[in-house]
Amino acid sequence: MTSFLNLEGRIALITGSARGIGKAIAETLAARGAKVIIADLEMDLADETASEIADSFDVETLALEVDVADQASAKAMVKSAVKAFGQVDILVNNAGITRDGLVMRMKEKDWDMVIDINLKGAFNCAQALSRSMMKARYGRIINITSVSGLVGQVGQANYSSSKAGLIGLTKALAKEFGSRNITVNAVAPGFIETVLTEELPEEIKEISLKLTPVGKFGSPQDVANAVAFLAAEESSFITGVVLNVDGGMVM
Ligand code: NAP
Repeated sequence: MTSFLNLEGRIALITGSARGIGKAIAETLAARGAKVIIADLEMDLADETASEIADSFDVETLALEVDVADQASAKAMVKSAVKAFGQVDILVNNAGITRDGLVMRMKEKDWDMVIDINLKGAFNCAQALSRSMMKARYGRIINITSVSGLVGQVGQANYSSSKAGLIGLTKALAKEFGSRNITVNAVAPGFIETVLTEELPEEIKEISLKLTPVGKFGSPQDVANAVAFLAAEESSFITGVVLNVDGGMVM
C-alpha cells in the first residue's frame, strides 16, 4: 500500500454507516487501514456491516447503536467508542434523512425531524467528541452536506435548511477547533445513486442528469474518495471548506 492517505492507526466513527454512502465511506477508510465504528439507528444492519468490513479489510470494527438527534444517545455512543478504542480521530457526520414536501403542506414534525437529525445530530456528535479530540490535539471532522444546501431545492425547505446549516456549523467548528490541530470540512454530494435517490420521480432524475456537466450520476464511492482525502494527515492545511462531489452540478 502506498503511504499516501494511509490511515493505519486511526480510529474513524461514521454515523449512518450501516448502508448507503456511510457504508462506502467506512469501507474506504478501512481499506486505508483505519479501524471503523459503524454507528447507526438499526443495530442488526450495523452489526452485519461491521463484520463484513472486518472480514474484507482485516481491520478491527465496532457497531454502535445511536440516534444522533438525541444528545444523550450521541454522548453514550462516544463513551462506548472511546472505551473500546481509546480515542476517535475521525468523525464523519453522515446520518441524514429527507422528508420532502412543498412548504405549504410541510408538517411541523417533518421540519423538526430533518433539522434534528441532519443538523443537530452533527452538532451532538461533534460536541460529544470535542473534549477528547482537543485533548489528543488531533482530529478530522467531515460533515456530509448536500448541493441542496448550497442552492436550495423545491420541496426540500427542511432538507436544504439543514444542509445549509451544516455548512455554517462546519465553518464555526473549523474556527473553534483549528488551533488544536482539528480540521472540520464538509462534502457536498450532488445526485448520488442510493436508496435515498432511488425513490425520486423519473422526471427529477432526468432534470438532475441534465444539470450535471459530466453527464452521469455519482456513486457512494465518489463521495467516499473525497472523505478519505479530508480524513487523512495530508489534508492538514484544509479546513472550513465545502468540497462539492457533484459532477459539476454547482459551480
Ligand atoms: P441512506 O441510504 O438513507 O443512509 C442513511 C443512514 O443513516 C441509514 O443507515 C439510516 O438508518 C441512518 N440514520 C437515519 N437517521 C439516523 C439517526 N437519527 N441516527 C443515526 N443514524 C440514522 O442515505 P444516503 O443516501 O447514504 O445518504 C447519506 C448522507 O449523504 C445523508 O446525510 C444525505 O443527506 C447525504 N446526501 C445524499 C445524497 C444522495 O444523492 N444520496 C446527495 C447529497 C447528500 P435507517 O436505515 O435505520 O433509517
